[in-house]
Amino acid sequence: MFLAILGNADSWYVADIRRAAEKRGHTAVRVEYRRLFASLDSQGVRLGESPADADPAATSGTNDSFANLSCCDAVIVRTMPPGSLEQVVFRMDALLMLEARGVQVINPPKAIECAVDKFLTSARLARAGIPTPRTIVCQDFESAMLAFEQLGGDVVVKPVFGAEGRGIMRVDNPDLAVRTFRTLERLDAVLYLQEFIHHPGYDTRILWLDGRPLGAIRRHSDDFRTNISRQARAERHTPTDLELQLAAAAVDATGTRIAGIDLLTDDQGRTYVIEVNAVPGWQGFRRATGIDVAEELVRSIEGL
Ligand code: ADP
Ligand code: MG
Repeated sequence: MFLAILGNADSWYVADIRRAAEKRGHTAVRVEYRRLFASLDSQGVRLGESPADADPAATSGTNDSFANLSCCDAVIVRTMPPGSLEQVVFRMDALLMLEARGVQVINPPKAIECAVDKFLTSARLARAGIPTPRTIVCQDFESAMLAFEQLGGDVVVKPVFGAEGRGIMRVDNPDLAVRTFRTLERLDAVLYLQEFIHHPGYDTRILWLDGRPLGAIRRHSDDFRTNISRQARAERHTPTDLELQLAAAAVDATGTRIAGIDLLTDDQGRTYVIEVNAVPGWQGFRRATGIDVAEELVRSIEGL
């Protein structure tokens, strides 16, 4: 098989997927998002990586020039870099066109669109009846102050397009609320406010692949943000039936093929789905569980 990985140069996941692909007799190349290009003529549309001389910083010495993505067996999306609205729409169009041509795109573009957007994910979870913390999304200071009160004066504020705990903060007093919400309003941000869940210092991450759980870890941290990227410690965890049910429902609601589902349990014993990550990391997971996620991913692509 021929696999393309949309991801950053020198990243651990490109190296890991390549290793797993080569072990199984396949070829995997990295493609730079910024170099996605489309050429149209009477034959139709060709999608690929720009054949023009790349910015050396973008390719950083790798020899990954690969012009035609339509010939790939699969395109693995491992990053969704921020960009202008135009860039984001173009990239999404390109992924949808590849999928329409029968290339496996992992995750499916519609699932990526949902999972990168914390509002859309929360809305899908709520609509599916999956327990998720009370959340209010608004665009102005006054509404945010009202939401802050309605959510009990203790909230987590998250960037709608964010990952790895970046930009997430706890706002638990009115002074901080005023300063935070004024600043966010000035930045034209969408304000995503979620009730603070008093968790015991860990969350549960279940990794899901093609309709089944690969395994689970608990991520312990002194910070309320229990992301591995924020130095949380991972330990292997055997998920409960409830955790598995919630994860399966969350995967269904978002349409993800591979997903990291984050669960938090509060001091009353209620378990919530916090997020569905469509580009989940697996280094901490692999260390804690010994499961070779990259190989599982390659095998799942072979199977379809
Ligand atoms: P990200 O995409 O940045 O990982 P998450 O929504 O998963 O965003 O939040 C990051 C971490 O912050 C979670 O793993 C959890 O530890 C903590 N967290 C998120 N939401 C809440 C909440 N409502 N109450 C308490 N902690 C939270
Ligand atoms: Mg998370």
